[in-house]
Amino acid sequence: MAWDFSTEPEFEEKLEWAREFVKERIEPLDILYPHLQFHPLSDELRPIVDPLKQEVRDHDLWAAHLGPELGGKGYGQLKLALLNEILGLSSWAPIIFGTQAPDTGNAEIIAHYGTDEQKELYLQPLLNGEVFSCYSMTEPQAGSDPQQFKTLAVKDGDEWVINGWKWFSSNARTSSFVIVMAVTDPEVSIYKGASMFLVPTDTPGVEFERHVGLTGETEEQGMHALIHYNEVRVPADALLGGEGQAFAIAQTRLGGGRVHHAMRSVATCQKALDLLCERVLSRETQGSLLARKQFIQGDIADSYAELAQFRLLVLYTAWEIDQYQDYQKTRKNIAAIKMLTPKVVHDAVWRSMHAHGALGVSNEMPFGGMWMMAPIMSVVDGPTEVHKVTVAREVLKGYEAAPGLWPTEHVPAKKKEAEEKMAAYIELLVGNS
Ligand SMILES: Cc1cc2nc3c(=O)[nH]c(=O)nc-3n(C[C@H](O)[C@H](O)[C@H](O)COP(=O)(O)OP(=O)(O)OC[C@H]3O[C@@H](n4cnc5c(N)ncnc54)[C@H](O)[C@@H]3O)c2cc1C
Repeated sequence: MAWDFSTEPEFEEKLEWAREFVKERIEPLDILYPHLQFHPLSDELRPIVDPLKQEVRDHDLWAAHLGPELGGKGYGQLKLALLNEILGLSSWAPIIFGTQAPDTGNAEIIAHYGTDEQKELYLQPLLNGEVFSCYSMTEPQAGSDPQQFKTLAVKDGDEWVINGWKWFSSNARTSSFVIVMAVTDPEVSIYKGASMFLVPTDTPGVEFERHVGLTGETEEQGMHALIHYNEVRVPADALLGGEGQAFAIAQTRLGGGRVHHAMRSVATCQKALDLLCERVLSRETQGSLLARKQFIQGDIADSYAELAQFRLLVLYTAWEIDQYQDYQKTRKNIAAIKMLTPKVVHDAVWRSMHAHGALGVSNEMPFGGMWMMAPIMSVVDGPTEVHKVTVAREVLKGYEAAPGLWPTEHVPAKKKEAEEKMAAYIELLVGNS
């Protein structure tokens, strides 16, 4: 069948299991141990978390983003999207299922560009879920505009010496290694003159200036590091891929990462809608249930329809990636869902939060954390504006300028053209009458 909106029964069974497992077994970790997902397991947590990971493996759902050659099952992005719609409900679930960002993207690029030695050293422990990794690209003076990147790597005999500052490098404080982007040839465009390096976090000169927290987090909970790479010396074989290949590599990881964020955001929107519906069926005011008020009904309809549209585009994009196996060919829709994500999350969470009144804005409901996902999703992996430009550029590739002064749909010209095409028939009609 060419068009199909159903999930094959064997995989649906796995999804059913995952739904129950996340709700019953993983959600308690979110409540009791928030903010610890990206920390090495304590003696208290290891006996809880390791068996959960084993259950995921036993159900063939470990590292579902990877192909069999890397220890996954090769489900592809579409099935991963269906799974991520469940995992996105919990901050611990991606860790327990081995699909957490940024490790997924980092594993992907080491698998793609790494040497055998690099794979053994960095990739294997990552795939086993034993270590965390960090991706260090954004700089304090520049995120969206890589042309302003200054971190430099200079060759010195058999070594590279890295100097510069990086900003918002997630999970650096608990990572065993960092993938750093640095300029290696300042004479050419950054897109050809930057390279990636695999740097163990304990290398002398990797200095954490501070660990920045997100809004609402305490200083100790901060996980996004401002890092000073201060005369960091790494051997020649720390280079990932070839010299000057950093941007080709970055596209491999960011394409996937953006789609995975969108998949998990479907879960946030669905949860917001579920909470909204439950609330308005439970709360009465001025003589009727909130669910009977037309303003509220409008909110429910908007949240439902916007989520359905968003979800379909996410699933379609995942399907496209599976078809083409090439992020370049799917960049229009990847950018489109990236740009939609903060808006649908914002609106769905806002409506639900608002319908809960004071309770909604209190710390007795989960809306605060859900709410922060909107501004986060609008900048992480590049701001919305940049992705809108990409969408527009890709859409415009299918068009060209009108051949003359007037648009091709200009009515006088169309009328003249239609008359010319119909002239013989009209003459016949007139002749017959
Ligand atoms: C939770 C989180 C985790 C992150 N993790 C990592 C990580 O692990 N590693 C890493 O390297 N980086 C990470 N980042 C950084 C992220 O990639 C950058 O924040 C992003 O690229 C934007 O860069 P910036 O913050 O410097 O914003 P800027 O580039 O300063 O942009 C600020 C604003 O300017 C506007 N703007 C920018 N460009 C344009 C344009 N072309 N047209 C119109 N308006 C524009 C937009 O409104 C934009 O939001 C993370 C960010 C967040 C929020």
